[in-house]
Amino acid sequence: MVQSSVLGFPRMGVLRDLKKANEAYWADKISQEDLLAEGKRLRLAHWKIQKDAGVDVIPSNDFAHYDHVLDHIQFFNAVPERYTSQKLSPLDEYFAMGRGHQKGGVDVPALEMVKWFDSNYHYVKPTLQDNQTFSLVKDPKPVREFLEAKEAGIQTRPVLVGPVSFLALGKADRGSSVDPITLLDKLVPVYVELLKALKAAGAESVQIDEPVLVFDLRPEVKAAFKPAYEAFAAAGAEIPSLVVATYFGDIVHNFDVLPAFSAVKGLHVDLVRNPEQLEPVLKQLGPTQILSAGVVDGRNIWKNNFQKSLGLLQTAIKALGEDRVIVATSSSLLHTPHTLASEKKLPTDVYEWFSFASEKVKEVAILAKAVTQPEAVKAELEANAAAIKARAESKRTNDPKVKERQAAVTPEQHIRQTPFDSRYAQQKKHLSLPLFPTTTIGSFPQTNEIRVQRNKFTKGDITEAEYDDFIKKEIDLAISIQDELDLDVYVHGEPERNDMVQYFGERLQGYVFTTHAWVQSYGSRCVRPPIIVGDISRPAPMTVKESKYAASVSKKPMKGMLTGPVTCLRWSFPRDDVHQSVQCQQLALALRDEVVDLEANGIFVIQVDEPALREGLPLRKGSERDAYLEWAVNSFKLATAGVQDSTQIHSHFCYSEFQDFFHAIAALDADVLSIENSKSDAKLLKVFIDEEYPRHIGPGVYDIHSPRIPSEEEIKQRIEEMLEFLKPEQLWINPDCGLKTRKWDEVKGALTHMVNAAKYFRAKY
Ligand code: GLN
Ligand code: ZN
Repeated sequence: MVQSSVLGFPRMGVLRDLKKANEAYWADKISQEDLLAEGKRLRLAHWKIQKDAGVDVIPSNDFAHYDHVLDHIQFFNAVPERYTSQKLSPLDEYFAMGRGHQKGGVDVPALEMVKWFDSNYHYVKPTLQDNQTFSLVKDPKPVREFLEAKEAGIQTRPVLVGPVSFLALGKADRGSSVDPITLLDKLVPVYVELLKALKAAGAESVQIDEPVLVFDLRPEVKAAFKPAYEAFAAAGAEIPSLVVATYFGDIVHNFDVLPAFSAVKGLHVDLVRNPEQLEPVLKQLGPTQILSAGVVDGRNIWKNNFQKSLGLLQTAIKALGEDRVIVATSSSLLHTPHTLASEKKLPTDVYEWFSFASEKVKEVAILAKAVTQPEAVKAELEANAAAIKARAESKRTNDPKVKERQAAVTPEQHIRQTPFDSRYAQQKKHLSLPLFPTTTIGSFPQTNEIRVQRNKFTKGDITEAEYDDFIKKEIDLAISIQDELDLDVYVHGEPERNDMVQYFGERLQGYVFTTHAWVQSYGSRCVRPPIIVGDISRPAPMTVKESKYAASVSKKPMKGMLTGPVTCLRWSFPRDDVHQSVQCQQLALALRDEVVDLEANGIFVIQVDEPALREGLPLRKGSERDAYLEWAVNSFKLATAGVQDSTQIHSHFCYSEFQDFFHAIAALDADVLSIENSKSDAKLLKVFIDEEYPRHIGPGVYDIHSPRIPSEEEIKQRIEEMLEFLKPEQLWINPDCGLKTRKWDEVKGALTHMVNAAKYFRAKY
C-alpha cells in the first residue's frame, strides 16, 4: 500500500497561539508551566489534524517554541558558555540564545539568526567553539515529544536535523576558528545515543533532514556523510530506520554522496521544485530503499494539481512498487499558513484555488489513496480537476494592459541620468548631509495602540478620517522623537503599515490577501504574505499621502519608504503559472510610478528595500543563479531609475554576506545601501574595498532583533571596526534593520547611543 507522510507542520496554531503564549511568557504574564502546557496543547492539536486527515506518517519534534535548530543546539549541549554560565532555567537559556536576555542582572545578546535556505524562515546558527563538546541532555525533547504523542495514541516519526547539515549550517563562535564539520566525530556518537533512546521509546522510523545536499558542497562536507551514516548503520537494529530528507532543490549533483546512505530505509526528495530529479533518483535507490516523493508543495499555497502529482507517483511506483513509495509534502509545511478554513473574506472563486497546511495534509492522504484505488476518492479527484481548470481559465489572471506595458519597457528605463559622482554632488547640496549621516531603516515601534486602531479601522469601528488622524499623530510622534535624537535623515515610521509587503499587496491589482494566513518568520514573529493571483498593476499612489505629510512637518530630509519588487515577490506567495521574472517586472513598473510620484511630492530620499534579494538566489552557482540576478537587478533598476540625479536612492538588505553576488549588489546602482552587519564579522565589509565600491554604505551598528540596548562604547567600537574597511565619507550610521518589533524606550535608548557615537566620529574626522 502507498503511504502518506508529512515532513513537518506549522507551529503557531490557528490564531498564532504560540506567538501569543511565548510573548506572554516573555512579558512575565504567564508562567513557564502555562507556556509549556500551551506548547503541548498545540502539538496534540496538530497531530490530531494529521491523523484525522488520514496521514500515515506523522512527524514529531517538528514543533519548536522558537526554532528547531536551536532545539538541537540545546539538546546536544552545544550551548555557548556565555549562556550556561547564567544559570537560567533551560527554557530561559533557550530563549536567551534565540532573542538575547537582559533581565535580573543578566545581559547576553542572541546567537546569530539567518535565513533557512531560500525561505523567509530564520534559524539560529549553531555557534561552535574550538574545544566544542557534545552530549545528550537528560530527557531530550525528541524523545519526550515522541512519548507525548504515543500517550495520545499517535505513533509519530520524529524529525531530526542530520549531523552533517547541523554542522554545515553552523559556524565558529567569535574567537574560535574551528571548522564545524571537523567536529563530526564528536557529534555522531551523541546522535547514535539519541537514536537509541528514540528506539527504546518505541520509534520505528526517524526522518533525518540533510537539506544541505541541495547545495554545492565543500569536499570536507561531502566526505562527512560517509562516516556519519556508517556509524548509524553500525548501530543496526538498536536505532530506528532512517529516512534521509532533502528539500528546496535537487540533489543530482551530489549523487556521489548517496552510497553513504546505503543502509538507510529511504530517501525524500523535493519533486515540486525539481520534478526532473525523479528519474535519476529512482536509479540511485538501493533494491529495498523507499522513495518519499515530495509532491505537495510545502512552500506555497496553491491547491495541488493531482493529475500532475499522480503522474510523478505512478512513475515512481512503476519503478519501485507500491510498498516502496511514500506520498509526501515537498518540505515541512512550516512555510504555509495553518488552515484555509479561517479565510472568510477571500473571493469565492479564488478560495477554491488554495490549500494551506491543514488542507495539504488531506491532499497527501488523498493522493496516497488515488494512486492505488482512484474509485475510492473519485469525488475528490473530480473536484480537484475542476478547481485547477477554473483557475487556468480565470479572467482574474490576465490583464492585457499590463502585458502591453511590459512589452514596451526599454533598456534606458533602467539607467539613472548620470553616474554616481555627479549625482552625489547634487544630492549633497540638495540634502545638506553631514559626515557619518545617521538614519534608521524605516519602521518605528508598532505599538499595541497602533494595532488596536488598525483593527478598529479594518472592522469599520472608526472612520477613515479618524484613522488618518491617528496615523498623523503617530507620524508627529516619530518626528518629534527624531528631532530629540538629532538624526539626520528622518523616516515617517511606517505606522500605517501592518507589514512591508502585505501593505503594498493590498494596494495593488493582481493580489489577494488573507486575514489569518500567518507564516512563522523567526521566533514569535509571523508574516502574512499576500498572494499574487494575476497580472499586477498600481491603481493609485500607495505611500504618497503619509510621506508627504511627514515631509511637511519635518525639518530634515524625509526618506520615503518602499518595498522593492524582488522583496514584494519573494515575500508574497507567487503565482506558479507565470515565471517569477515576469511577476517581478510587473511589480517594478508599479513601484516605478510610486517612486516618481514620491519625488514629485517633495520626497528626495527614497529607500527601496530589497532584503529578500539574496534569499531568492538559487541555492547553487551557475546559469540559474545568473539568470535570477539579471532579472532581479533589472527589476530594482527599473523601479528606481526614473528619478532626477538630485534624488537619493537608498536600498536596504538584512545581511552583509555579499561575496557570492557582489557584482549584482553593485549593479543596483543605489546611492546608499544599509545592511545588517552588527552580529556578523566586520570583515565581511572588506569586499567593498576589494571591489572599489564607490557609493555609500550604512552597515548596521547594532542588533535590532533583541530588546537589549547596546552601549555607546559598543557602537563606537563597531564603527571603528567598520572604518578599517570603509572610507569615512562613505559611511552611514544606522541600526541593522527596522525597529517595528522594539519598544519605544529600547529605540530611544539605542538610538541615543548611536547618534552620540556618530557625533564622536564626526568630531574626530
Ligand atoms: N523599511 C522596513 C522596516 O524598517 C525594512 C524591513 C526589513 O528590511 N525587513 O521595517
Ligand atoms: Zn532589514
